[in-house]
Order: sequence, then C-alpha cells, then structure tokens
Amino acid sequence: MNKSYLDKISQQAFGKSIPQQTIPLPSTGVLYPLDKDGNELKEIDVRIMVASDLNILYSKNLIKSGKAFSMILKNCCLSDRDVDELIVGDRNAILIAIRAISFGTIYETKVKCQDPECPKTFDGEFDISKINLKLLELKPIQEYTNMFKFVLPQTQKEVVFKFLTGKDSQDLMSAKQNKMKGGGGGLEDDMTATLKKMVITIDGKGGVEAAQAIDVMEVRDSLSLRQYIIDSQPDVELLQEMTCPVCESVYEYEFDMDYDFFYPRTGQKK
Ligand SMILES: [Zn+2]
Repeated sequence: MNKSYLDKISQQAFGKSIPQQTIPLPSTGVLYPLDKDGNELKEIDVRIMVASDLNILYSKNLIKSGKAFSMILKNCCLSDRDVDELIVGDRNAILIAIRAISFGTIYETKVKCQDPECPKTFDGEFDISKINLKLLELKPIQEYTNMFKFVLPQTQKEVVFKFLTGKDSQDLMSAKQNKMKGGGGGLEDDMTATLKKMVITIDGKGGVEAAQAIDVMEVRDSLSLRQYIIDSQPDVELLQEMTCPVCESVYEYEFDMDYDFFYPRTGQKK
C-alpha cells in the first residue's frame, strides 16, 4: 500500500502521522551504491507496524516460504531503495528496530537452561534496546560496492566475495525447499550453495569456474573463507546474559528472530 496514502488515512482517523524512526545500518553504508543525489545509505527511515501489516504474519504461505519478513520490511521501510538488495545484517537491524518501535523493547520467549544438569525451560526476557550492532570494519575493494577480498591460506588464491542480500538468502531458501521436496539435500550441499552465492571470483575467475572451484576447494581453505565471512559480516548481536530461575546459573544466550519475535504472545503485558 502506498506509504503517503497510509499516512493520510492515519491523519484522518487519528489526527496524527504513523510514528517513524531513523535506523542506523551495521554496514555503515560503504557497500551500497550512492543514491541519485549522491548520498550514502547509512541509515533508513522506518514506520511502526500497523494492523494491516499483521495479515502478513497470519499468512501461512508467506511464513512457510520465508517471505513474511521481507514483506514487513517492504511495508515499513520508507525508502526508495529496494530492501531485497540490502544485506542480511542490515535487514536484521531494521527488523529488530521495527519490532521494538511497534511492540516494545521487551521480548519474552521460552529459553532452555544451558546447564546440562538442569534441563529446565523458562520464560526468558530479552531487552531489545540492549542489542548492539556489529559494524562493518572491512573496506570494499572498490568504494560503494558489496565486494571484499580474502586470500585463501593454503592455496594463496585471492577470493572476491560479497555479503548475502535479502534476495540471495531467499533464493537459497527456495532452492533448499525445492530440494527437500525432491527428497535430496543435506548440510554439505547447503554450505557449498551458500558459498557459491557469496563468492564472486576465485583467482580472477567467476561464474561456473568459481562454482566448480568451491566444490573442490581444500577444506582448510573452505572453512577459513567461511569463518572469515562470518566474523566480518556486519549484523546485530543477539547474545544476552540470562539467569536460570531454577539453578541460578548465568550464561550468554543467543535468541532467535523467529515469527514469535514479531508476534509477541505477551505484547499487551509490557
Ligand atoms: Zn537452570
């Protein structure tokens, strides 16, 4: 639905605009092309979710296909940029911000105690306002491109890679779902499939040659490359300290951004 149209309706119905906020992006803007006015994409304006956005979360098809988060982003981002071209970490930061301004900053979810002696599950509380951004520290090989360099430790070949965009990750998910329908596919397939999406060239060669090289890459090179991308990927840090109410052990717990995150059972309480 047209964004200014929604705002106009809100003015008529409630005498105010739909609340908005400006969200900083963990990529810091260095990997996207400049807009037509020469501006970097360092931050993005979002609006809170409104009742019609909840339809997305009620749609079993959208949730099963993994498209629901994308649609929430499309609806709530007030930008001309295509949100599917944003990298996954930036999309996570935006989704978390939309969740916080729409439903509040406390997220209650079931947490399993990490102490093996205490197999309890309890209601944990995460404070979204305490989430830190993991900012991009690498420099792209060319300004304003999603292209970065890594030298494989064993073969010393240079790899140019990119961070996955929303579109890339949706492509991977559809490919995986198709494969599962066909009864095939395993973890190994997923890992090389992901690398094939990320790698642009190996030793200057792209396309089919790069894809074949990924399949036959020495495991130490393959694992180093994967780890380097994970470590340098801009994102949000979802680890928070938890205390088990039963055994009182304290540990770091990484929570999931699943659909429960966007549709809190207890949104009314806090
Ligand atoms: Zn415990």
